[in-house]
Amino acid sequence: MAVESAVLTPVAATTPVANPESEKHAKALQFIEDMTKNCGAVQERVIGEILSRNANTEYLQRFQLNGATDRDTYKAKVPIVKYEDLQPDIQRIANGDRSPILSSHPISEFLTSSGTSAGERKLMPTIADEMDRRQLLYSLLMPVMNLYVPGLDKGKGLYFLFIKAETKTPGGIVARPVLTSYYKSEQFKKRPHDPFLVYTSPNEAILCADSFQSMYTQMLCGLIMREEVLRVGAVFASGLLRAIKFLQLNWKQLADDISSGILNPRITDSSIKECMSKILKPNPELAQFITKECEGENWASIIPRIWPNTKYLDVIVTGAMAQYIPTLDYYSGGLPLPCTMYASSECYFGLNLKPMTKPSETCYTIMPNMGYFEFIPHDPVNPMPLSRDSPPRLVDLADLEVGKEYELVISTYSGLCRYRVGDILLVTGFYNSAPQFKFIRRKNVLLSIDADKTDESELQKAIENASELLNEFDTRVVEYTSHGDTKTIPGHYVIYWELHVKDPENAPTHEVLNKCCLVMEESMNSVYRQGRVADNSIGPLEIRVVKNGTFEELMDYAISRGASINQYKPPRCVNFAPILELLDARVVSAHFSPSAPHWTPERRG
Ligand code: AMP
Repeated sequence: MAVESAVLTPVAATTPVANPESEKHAKALQFIEDMTKNCGAVQERVIGEILSRNANTEYLQRFQLNGATDRDTYKAKVPIVKYEDLQPDIQRIANGDRSPILSSHPISEFLTSSGTSAGERKLMPTIADEMDRRQLLYSLLMPVMNLYVPGLDKGKGLYFLFIKAETKTPGGIVARPVLTSYYKSEQFKKRPHDPFLVYTSPNEAILCADSFQSMYTQMLCGLIMREEVLRVGAVFASGLLRAIKFLQLNWKQLADDISSGILNPRITDSSIKECMSKILKPNPELAQFITKECEGENWASIIPRIWPNTKYLDVIVTGAMAQYIPTLDYYSGGLPLPCTMYASSECYFGLNLKPMTKPSETCYTIMPNMGYFEFIPHDPVNPMPLSRDSPPRLVDLADLEVGKEYELVISTYSGLCRYRVGDILLVTGFYNSAPQFKFIRRKNVLLSIDADKTDESELQKAIENASELLNEFDTRVVEYTSHGDTKTIPGHYVIYWELHVKDPENAPTHEVLNKCCLVMEESMNSVYRQGRVADNSIGPLEIRVVKNGTFEELMDYAISRGASINQYKPPRCVNFAPILELLDARVVSAHFSPSAPHWTPERRG
């Protein structure tokens, strides 16, 4: 078994504890050591704490734990659940029932996950002290990074961070994404000065709800402070690429502002205007430099050209975001891509203790203090039966086996009990007694461009809705597949259709097929539609009609590569380059959504 140990301690021990920052870092590293060395004991403590604090909740009382706080009783009596199992309870909380249903602590807000249920973001109840746990995990990131990239306290981070729309449930509880909640919290807004966490973006820009004004100001500040910037980042890779695209589209206006010292009149937010009056001063020399770098066609290595002291890009490029690595490499000239953290709305899980490894080798270590973690061995052929009446014994964090894949199940202080997150993780080794994981994938996600996650049934439903428009042309969709095209920024969904047109004289027109694209988009879940409408993080959906017989060719190709003819099913999503080439070579027409679908922050239904 590959057990690493004490990689973090020697540095911590040799770092002279000369100032408060290094003392803070040494403490953080020691904390990581303590947690990972005592993984099993910490997990036992965590489940004990969760069960004692939530003993009086309606949910736990249903399973007759009778006050037991040990993990054996918990595992024997409490079922493994999905969001849909909890939805009636969550709906009662959303409707204003303040009794202790899932958590004995009051639900402070709902965090809206990018995972959806019935087309809407899942609502994850959270409690006030969960914010402290998230903050604790954040506080471990820089001490680890500082071991590998020294000097990060000598400059700033250019991070493109945004808030998203928030709503209230019928019972008056705020519902918003976890990062919106974090950026709006006092912990973030009034964070004490830490030389390792100095950002170029003012809070006023991050907290501006208008995404254009927010991005414009953050980019402007990044340009003004370009020489101080030591790292460039966003949450996801797609977000950073959106920022680069924004620079491509807006560099002229940005350079004008820098040249004149006068802020673009499109920035109307008064708090941004006030803070920019202190930051923006005429600097024609800088404006000239930006013009020189941006005016041509050459955008290769634009990041180190504009921000020459950048040591790495801080974005998530694991999971669905791996598709952006080549584009990021192009813009960054191959700067390192450390992925620092693995987290979700339900629970923040852990961090990467070796951040400077290649993205394909990125491993996360779950911190055992964040929640109670169990694992379903992932075997798609023989899935473990998950009976509610006699719940199976799942594997504990400290007992995982290297080389095996597992599905993550969590129990949180906020009251989620044995909840399936949907992530599949591969154990790659151990750090002390804590397993390290490669993020493999999120279950059931077919297409993803940004935070959107579209599954096979959503795509199927969208196809059905769109193909209704073809009825009057006596035309039907014979076969289809899809691809998330990320060659453009923003990326977009491409749906390949093979059509059977009864009467070629009465074939569906270009306009009708464009309309089919829009109907498909209208059928997508709210995270997709928000990406299209509010965030501009997803481009218009495209239908590519392929020649008749293309899907048969696809089958022939698969069989030639060893697929069984009896078991062959057309893939509903393709990423394999030769198949994409085959499909693209058979395209007879391409059609795009003529407008954006409908989206408002309010939940449907
Ligand atoms: P959300 O609930 O919208 O916050 O999304 C959380 C999900 O995003 C997780 O369950 C993962 O599927 C995915 N995710 C979060 N962090 C990472 C990461 N570092 N690498 C890959 N996927 C991630």
